Amino acid sequence: MPQIAAQRQARAGTTSEDPELSGASGPERRVVGIDIGATKWTVVAGDGTRIRASGATSASPDATLRRLESWLVGAYGREPLDALGCSFAGAVDRDGVVSGWPNRVSWKGYALLDDLRAFARHVSIADDGVCAARAEMAVGVAQDVRDFLSVSFGTGVGGCFVLDGSVRRARSDDARSIGHLRLLGEQHRCACGWRGCVQTVLCGPALAQADAARHVSAPLRDAVERLARWCADVCQQLGLEMVVLAGGSLARGEWIRAALLDVFQREGEAVGVAATAGSHLAAGPALGALLMLEERTT
Ligand SMILES: [Zn+2]
Repeated sequence: MPQIAAQRQARAGTTSEDPELSGASGPERRVVGIDIGATKWTVVAGDGTRIRASGATSASPDATLRRLESWLVGAYGREPLDALGCSFAGAVDRDGVVSGWPNRVSWKGYALLDDLRAFARHVSIADDGVCAARAEMAVGVAQDVRDFLSVSFGTGVGGCFVLDGSVRRARSDDARSIGHLRLLGEQHRCACGWRGCVQTVLCGPALAQADAARHVSAPLRDAVERLARWCADVCQQLGLEMVVLAGGSLARGEWIRAALLDVFQREGEAVGVAATAGSHLAAGPALGALLMLEERTT
């Protein structure tokens, strides 16, 4: 069992009742969390806060999974893991088949759950924005926060609302998350088929470029301000305490993280909503997937 989850369960006085999860215990238990994003995949284990491995996500799901498998076999051998939690940036249907992923359209129809089951006896898949929020709720900045909005900056923009301590999931199963809020003009055509989605401008590559140049372009600043204002306004209306900024794009650049946080804090201050950066920007999604295995909430 991951150390953090063990500590949390010990505090709560609970134990796992899932027979698939109770076959092994103690430090020898082989459990990992992975995150499959549009640009790269990462693996965490142990207490889940340190990335153990990462690689490029490609247009071919088979090729991507084979590279992931190669690392897992090298680290853990060919015996299946006890459990694997997968944070995924696309959407999957009830059977674990990819039902939509605007940033990686070639993955649609891929039987992700079936392939992951070759790696571990118990597998769960959850939305990456939900996983990032779970990590902050469990061991991050939102531990004592009942109501907040988590916004996760990766290749695109994800996230979710947490209301009264409960994660709210999008109604659709097409992987359109916060990045597909139509906050921009009709001239911005999105890969998802819509127009005006905020992540047509506010995306991982644009944030990396801004960080390298120490300069936020006017279109990017406009997109950030529109999203920050929307987040602040909806939080104010719903009575939410704060906006938590998460995601790997913020982990890669200290400058752009500060620049985004400044905009979100300024827009939040105008309506009395706080904004803060998460504690687990790079490892958050995989860490959340690992923790959700133990919480059995996927
Ligand atoms: Zn879109």
